[in-house]
Amino acid sequence: MSQDLLLDIRNLKKWFPLRRSIADIIARRPPLYVRAVDGITFNIKKKEIFGLVGESGSGKTTTGKTILRLYEPTAGEIIFHENGEKVDLAKIPIKKFKPYRKKMQIIYQDPYGSLNPRMRVRDIIAEPLEYLAPELSADERLERVIETLEMVRLTPVEEFLNKFPHQLSGGQRQRVAIARAIILRPKFIVADEPVAMIDVSMRAGILNLLLEMREKLGISFLYITHDLATAGYVTDRIAVMYLGKIMEMGSSDEVLLEPLHPYSQALISAVPEPDPTIKKKRILLRGEIPSAIMIPKGCRFWPRCPKAMDICKKKEPEFKEVSSGRFVACHLYD
Ligand code: SF4
Repeated sequence: MSQDLLLDIRNLKKWFPLRRSIADIIARRPPLYVRAVDGITFNIKKKEIFGLVGESGSGKTTTGKTILRLYEPTAGEIIFHENGEKVDLAKIPIKKFKPYRKKMQIIYQDPYGSLNPRMRVRDIIAEPLEYLAPELSADERLERVIETLEMVRLTPVEEFLNKFPHQLSGGQRQRVAIARAIILRPKFIVADEPVAMIDVSMRAGILNLLLEMREKLGISFLYITHDLATAGYVTDRIAVMYLGKIMEMGSSDEVLLEPLHPYSQALISAVPEPDPTIKKKRILLRGEIPSAIMIPKGCRFWPRCPKAMDICKKKEPEFKEVSSGRFVACHLYD
């Protein structure tokens, strides 16, 4: 089992402290934290596309950035497996993190904001090589850029090399962002809503490209999204996140077709059915996702849960395995 693993995330937490006023300090009020990621455990296998789904504010993006050490973890382990060795990325001093930057990359949702508008495509894609592979000559760098542009199907390459981002469509820009992420041939990529801001007609092309990169380059992905339809298309397993915790986890088919947790059931009931003759009952949740500063006691989902019981307000449910590889945090399965 462990030789299949790439990342093993254990009880990961990322809390952001809130600024305290002088009055708070004088009154000795305890510090408050935004508990964006509040103790989550899951693993990602080699060549796996693992989906992290949930509403905005659930902690998905913070999870991805904390795994990459773009945010410092508050607690927990991020075990990276390579060649039979394992290392806890959470414990590596940030100054010594450079070798891991090569192996772990991110694709952001906004292909407009994530590319420098003043740089040409060739320089945008080559930039990570300058920082993280300075041993390559200028010719070797250009060769790698051309090869990578071909991989992401921005061809004929000579047409794209000297373009600026504003001369490209949203889909082409996202392909440039993917080329930049794969140029160092990483082992792992966080894809944060990679198709949310591009035209619907181009989404399938980008998703297919991720699937192809997994096959050709053996990359594992953490695919972050609020869109269950695209998650179902590309992911092998899914974890459903709510207010900093994982509520349910399992194979994508199981979670999407037979969700166990009331929160997953509500999310999935809201996905439009492609066949208009099929009527499904939408589960409406009360209110909005609460603030991650004042997390409800007991099950954090109880104020919105249509199936809440007395115990839910008092005791936090354990995240436990209910069948092979299927985990859920809900008192209905005690
Ligand atoms: Fe709903 Fe209770 Fe389950 Fe939480 S533990 S999801 S409140 S039934």
